[in-house]
Amino acid sequence: MLGEVNDYTERFLETLPDRPAFNFTEDMGAGLYDSPITEEGMDIGEILRIYKENVDDQALCAVSGKFFGYIAPCSMYYSALGDYMAAVMDEYAGEFSSSPGAVRMEYQLLDWMAELVGYHAGTAKGVLASGGSIATLTCIVTAREAHGLNAEEYPRAVVYHTRFTHHCVAKSLHIAGLGGCVMRAVPTDADFRMDPDALAEMIRNDRAAGLEPWLVVSSAGTTDLGNVDELDRIGALAREHELWFHVDAAYGGFFILCDLVRHRFRGIEMSDSVVMNPHKGLHTPFGLGAALIRDGEHLYRSHYYTADYLQDRAFHRQELSPADVSPELTRHFRALRLWLPLKLIGVAPFRAMLSEKLLLTRYAWQRLQSTPGFEVGPEPELSILVFRYIDVDGDVDEFNRKLVEALRRDGTIFLTSTLIDNVYMLRLSILSYRTHIDTIDLAIDVIRREVEKLKNP
Ligand SMILES: *Cc1c(COP(=O)(O)O)cnc(C)c1O
Repeated sequence: MLGEVNDYTERFLETLPDRPAFNFTEDMGAGLYDSPITEEGMDIGEILRIYKENVDDQALCAVSGKFFGYIAPCSMYYSALGDYMAAVMDEYAGEFSSSPGAVRMEYQLLDWMAELVGYHAGTAKGVLASGGSIATLTCIVTAREAHGLNAEEYPRAVVYHTRFTHHCVAKSLHIAGLGGCVMRAVPTDADFRMDPDALAEMIRNDRAAGLEPWLVVSSAGTTDLGNVDELDRIGALAREHELWFHVDAAYGGFFILCDLVRHRFRGIEMSDSVVMNPHKGLHTPFGLGAALIRDGEHLYRSHYYTADYLQDRAFHRQELSPADVSPELTRHFRALRLWLPLKLIGVAPFRAMLSEKLLLTRYAWQRLQSTPGFEVGPEPELSILVFRYIDVDGDVDEFNRKLVEALRRDGTIFLTSTLIDNVYMLRLSILSYRTHIDTIDLAIDVIRREVEKLKNP
């Protein structure tokens, strides 16, 4: 069986360069229902055929170097090997007394990340979550408890963000029962970053009005544009006014490894909590985010629970357990999918790969800028750029919407769109380790070809 599965995945990887980034079918995997779950099992070969037809062949190909949508990640094979081992042995990674090594492996990774953002690994604490959204929820709940907010204060508690803040923040507030907080979208400066002066004024006004400024959320790499807020200035304001300072570095965080842009993250060490996503910047498969809390006590106090049937845990206790600092109890042994690749190839290739993405993004931005008919958005700070085609008679937004549809139908590359201040923009997010300069050239050729086809049907 392992041989058959291995043949299948090898074939996938061998044909990957020729695969479209997106494969649209009318069927959309519905053929799975033709083979219901039954009392009798079936042959692995037949199962793989059903899988190929209904899942593999009818999806966007997130591991393709030609995938530029959303935040384009790209799962590493080394991680898959870690996942395979984790699933076979199924170490119980929620609890120190069950599998101390698995827990220490997780803490080693979290300490490494904490040091990357300038936290003191001895006092910081974190948790590996299933992704950025759950990691954000963990931080929001911690911020709520650390501030001692109780329910009657929620309608007076103020959260400062910008219109570029990822929606998982508002969603987390809602899930945490804090949907009734006052939400203040702080205006942005000319570089689409939170304007610290405007923030200071809003905090003063809110205090004067008897409200309770509580939380400021900065982005270290917005999903729309990849921009990084001025973390040092916002951090200083948060300290002055005793606000919890959360930095969403889910997308951008690991660019801190790169000399080219490290300066942009200055001040991240002043934050109280940070989210970063190894399943984006470090290319693990989907399902790995990290929440880091500068003063780990807060994380423990807001998440620790126990029960009679867990009393034996106390016998072998040298460290806290992930279950003590996260909403989860039983959980996937997530650390191995990141530890194994980091041990195997070291940090240097990640640094090099991320630096390459920064350079490719500047290259793509410059090429589009000098291509007649195209208009580019702001100079990219990290690895996301937006652009549109403007040399059209008639509605420019409409043309660009059709362009996205045409690219989707063609499928060679996959990109997504966004609205920047209500202007429809196409967006290239460049993060895959399989994307290189020839992939960027191909993407621009495909975009130009589809523009021509739309203009001269
Ligand atoms: C992707 C992303 C998130 C959400 O992370 P998930 O892993 O998709 O839940 C949050 N913030 C930013 C800036 C992101 O790019």
